[in-house]
Amino acid sequence: MSAIDDLPPLRAVIAAHGLSARKSLGQNFLLDLNLTAKIARQAGNLSDTDVLEIGPGPGGLTRGLLSEGARKVLAIEKDARCLPALAEIADRYPGQLQVIEGDALDIDPLEHLTPPIRVAANLPYNVGTELLVRWLTPPTWPPFWQSLTLMFQREVAERIVAQPGSKAYGRLAVLSQWRTDARIVLSLPPDAFTPPPKVSSAVVHLTALPAPKFDADPAVLSRVVAAAFNQRRKMLRAALKGTAPDIEDRLIAAGIKPTDRAEQVPIEAFCALAREVAKG
Ligand code: SAM
Repeated sequence: MSAIDDLPPLRAVIAAHGLSARKSLGQNFLLDLNLTAKIARQAGNLSDTDVLEIGPGPGGLTRGLLSEGARKVLAIEKDARCLPALAEIADRYPGQLQVIEGDALDIDPLEHLTPPIRVAANLPYNVGTELLVRWLTPPTWPPFWQSLTLMFQREVAERIVAQPGSKAYGRLAVLSQWRTDARIVLSLPPDAFTPPPKVSSAVVHLTALPAPKFDADPAVLSRVVAAAFNQRRKMLRAALKGTAPDIEDRLIAAGIKPTDRAEQVPIEAFCALAREVAKG
């Protein structure tokens, strides 16, 4: 396999900077640069695009994104130990890599980015779902990003792309598939990482649709879906009792059987129900 750049191999970078992996920061590193370049390619054409990366660590995916031609990468990393290694990458790609030290949950990256913007990350597992939900529920749609290319534990990836009728189908599937096209594009075994995590992983690619697939108020839809899946074993007429008066009539008006459970309801029907609930 050919080298993707002329920087040292990641094992050497980790040894030189003493980057022993810390579990508390969700550190499972990707050391195969051909694999990180492959993940970067899943993010689409990067040449005229700024890329937001969360958790660059020693910089494997960062190097993949830059070697695949990203116009600029803005990388947010909580672990200060990684900064010298990332500075070496910034020197190799002048003006193309900006690193911010800090917690991605507290930092607004938008002032440092120019559209079009894509997000790509091998996410720290402890904050991955929270970041995804934030990116999927912005104040206005379309969002600031064109696409999200994100590594998750396989089980979380399956919840994002799950279809009605399956155990994995829930709030994450509805939130994701209402306004994006979401696909699993790569599966990775534990031994792709150093140290290997206990479970398999998968990369999910979500493309923002210009408009939602079905009309609904985002806040009402979110409330209805959260209530429905919070008590997913209950019939909807019981699970949604506190959501609106006459909920049984509204379920019927939305074309949903009040005795159905949340798991059986397609996104289109949840949107119809949100419209009925919004009538007040
Ligand atoms: N991107 C690297 C790779 O693929 O090898 C590292 C991935 S590792 C799974 C997750 C990275 O996220 C670590 O570098 C960790 O320090 C960083 N991290 C953890 N929590 C974070 C947070 N709240 N904000 C920003 N970075 C965080």
